[in-house]
Amino acid sequence: MTRTTADVTFLRGYNQALVMAVGRTARTFERSTVVNATGLTPQAVSKVIARLIADGLIRSAGVRRASIGKPAVVYELVPDSRYAIGAHVARRTLRLVLVDLAGAVHHSAVSPLPSDFIPEQLLHTLNSGIDAITSGNDLRGRLTGVGLGMIGPLDHEHGLVRDAHGLRHWHDVPLREIAEAYLGLPVHLDKDVAAGITAEAWRHGGTFGDAALIMVESGIGGGFWLGGGAHRGAHTNAGEFGHTVVDLDGPLCVCGRHGCLEIVHNQAADAGDIPRAARVLAVGVVNLLQTLDLAHVVLAGADLLRHADTYLAAVEQAVQADARRRDWLSTDVALSSLGADAIAAGAAMQVLDNQYGIPDLAPLAKSNPPLPQRTGRWRASLMLER
Ligand SMILES: [Zn+2]
Repeated sequence: MTRTTADVTFLRGYNQALVMAVGRTARTFERSTVVNATGLTPQAVSKVIARLIADGLIRSAGVRRASIGKPAVVYELVPDSRYAIGAHVARRTLRLVLVDLAGAVHHSAVSPLPSDFIPEQLLHTLNSGIDAITSGNDLRGRLTGVGLGMIGPLDHEHGLVRDAHGLRHWHDVPLREIAEAYLGLPVHLDKDVAAGITAEAWRHGGTFGDAALIMVESGIGGGFWLGGGAHRGAHTNAGEFGHTVVDLDGPLCVCGRHGCLEIVHNQAADAGDIPRAARVLAVGVVNLLQTLDLAHVVLAGADLLRHADTYLAAVEQAVQADARRRDWLSTDVALSSLGADAIAAGAAMQVLDNQYGIPDLAPLAKSNPPLPQRTGRWRASLMLER
């Protein structure tokens, strides 16, 4: 590819992503909405809109007649123009969802996985589940791929599961590659918690600041949204929140250390003392707030959602009690808006995002914010478009 071709492709993808970001966060929009939000010229916006209409991604939704000047065409995203399937791979279950271009969940189903399953067993269960979705919904030409949100540690960039916690047969498994070959579809692999926090960011759009998704499901993990994107760390191992120590002389944890948040929490939960387990988690959340200064904390995971009210109350109370200056240190605590679908839906949104958008750009639908920085992260997501 020559340099000129590459740059043109990059700009076309960039402008298209700008318009799609506006379309996803505003219900309807006009050419002038995009011009004001992005700083692109009206001519450039017209070209991109024409291309997106030709691709079926947006459509005209009527005309707005102003008291003066020419009537303006109103556009909207076409939600059913593209879909992605998202999977939440847990230790005993596989949850699959179908998500449209606007982020709505259309289908959700859970299948059991054999205990201590091997890669082939996962692929087989995935394939049957995807067959069930595609036979029940006519998705011809509209399915963009499959997103997998899985237990880590894993390397999302190389599609490699390093050592899934609690599963013995997953050591350096190139899951993305073998799943693409087995399923015949593009696959995106990420840690469960990174997928989950992406789902929350998509749903909140431009109002979503720095945030953590705390997941309690067998273990305890944290997904982080920092500076407008999912934070995975220097070795893609961020989020091992459950293995931070809360009791120096505490019980021995599976990780080899003593008194980790996860083992202290699990001992209380296993003894049936859910209020104490919730208080232990709340201490960990406040430690996180002291370290990262977050605007949102989202609570998720099957084990937590079974006692959602107890956990929510404990975390809210700890956050309120420990933030001495509520006038400027405020953190919103909530249960995941997608409930049990959060991880699978987020994995699907990551696939759509790689193709059609950039989460950083969501704030563009608000009034006149500055243009986003060209960070490596979204440049990488645009590279995938080519
Ligand atoms: Zn530990």
